[in-house]
Amino acid sequence: MRVLVLNRRDVEFMLTMPKCIELMESALVSLSRGEVILPLRPVLRVPDSPNVFALMPAYSNALKAIGTKLITVYPGNRGTALESHQGAVLLFDGENGSLLAMMDAASITAIRTAAVSGVATRLLARTNAATLVILGAGVQARTHIDAMLAVRPFTKILVWSRTPEQARAVAEDARQRHGVEAEAAKSAADAVSVADVVCTVTAAREPVLRGEWLKPGTHINAVGASIPTARELDTEAVRRARIFVDRRESALNEAGDLLIPIQEGAIAADAIVADLGERLVSGGTARRNEEEITLFKSLGLAIEDLACAHFLHGRAKADGSGTWVDL
Ligand code: NDP
Repeated sequence: MRVLVLNRRDVEFMLTMPKCIELMESALVSLSRGEVILPLRPVLRVPDSPNVFALMPAYSNALKAIGTKLITVYPGNRGTALESHQGAVLLFDGENGSLLAMMDAASITAIRTAAVSGVATRLLARTNAATLVILGAGVQARTHIDAMLAVRPFTKILVWSRTPEQARAVAEDARQRHGVEAEAAKSAADAVSVADVVCTVTAAREPVLRGEWLKPGTHINAVGASIPTARELDTEAVRRARIFVDRRESALNEAGDLLIPIQEGAIAADAIVADLGERLVSGGTARRNEEEITLFKSLGLAIEDLACAHFLHGRAKADGSGTWVDL
C-alpha cells in the first residue's frame, strides 16, 4: 500500500489561505446539506494537567473520503521548541477503505481554523471593516491575520497578548509579510474599543474580552476556548451578540463561551442563529444592519481537516509532491 506523507513544509506550500477559505466554505455547506458524518470528538484528558489528546473522525459522502485527526494539545509547550498542537491527519479512501495519507496536523489546524474564521468574517463583518484586533499572539494569531486580510481590506491591525513582546513580534510579522500598519496594543480594552473585527485566539480559560468594550457593528471570531468550562468572552459580550457557530451540536456540547451564559440564564440555547453552513446554503440574512454585534463561535470540526487532507492528497498526486512510502 503506497501512502502519502506530507510534512509541515508540504502542507504550508500547498494549502494557501485563499484556497483553504474556498475549501472550508464547501466543507461547511456540505455539512449542512447532510453529506457528512461527524461524531462529537472523544477527548482524553491527561490527569493533573491541562493536556488533552483528541480524536476527530469524519466521513464525507461528497468527497468519498474518511479521515481522522489525532491531536495532542499541550498548552505548556508554548515558549519551548514544541508547539501546543501536534499530531497527524489520516486520510482513507471512502470506497475501498485504504489508508491514503498521513499529514502534519499542526499546520493543517493552523491554516484551516483561520480559514473558517475567514468564511465567518466574509459572511458577518461589515464590508467597510478597517481595524482588526487580535487577542493572543500564538500560532493562530498569525494565520488569522492572513485569513482576515484575505476577506476584508483592513488598514490597521492591533495585537494584544498577555506577553507584550509576543504581541510585538506578531505585529512585526504582519507588517513584514503583508505591508499593513500593525502594532501591539497597550491593553485588550483599548484595542477592542476601536475594533471592527476581533479574533480571540488565546488559551485563556477566563474571559479576555469584555462585552462592555465592544462598539456597535463589531464582528467577533471566538476561536480559543473549546471545552465547556473555559471561555474567552464574558457573558455580556455573548449577550450583546447575534450568534453563529460552526455546528450547533458541537457548540452546545463544547463551547464554554456559550454554555456558561446559558447556565447563567443570560441567553437561551436558541440564541444561536445558525450554523455557518446553513446560512451559506439558505442565503438568509447574516448581518442585519451596521450596528449589530455579530459573533462566530468556532470549535473546529473534523470535516475541516478531512477536506484539507482530501485536497492535499489530490494535489500531491497530481504534481508528485510529498513522500510516498510502502506500508
Ligand atoms: P499557542 O499555544 O500558539 O498560543 C496560545 C496563546 O494564548 C498565546 O498568545 C498565549 O500567550 C495565550 N494565552 C495562554 N494562556 C493565556 C491566558 N490565561 N490569558 C491570556 N492569554 C493566554 O496556541 P494556538 O495559537 O495554536 O491556539 C490558540 C487557541 O485556539 C488555543 O486555545 C487552541 O486550543 C485554540 N484552537 C482552536 C481551534 C478551533 O478550531 N476553534 C483550532 C486550534 C486551536 P503567551 O504568549 O503569553 O503564552
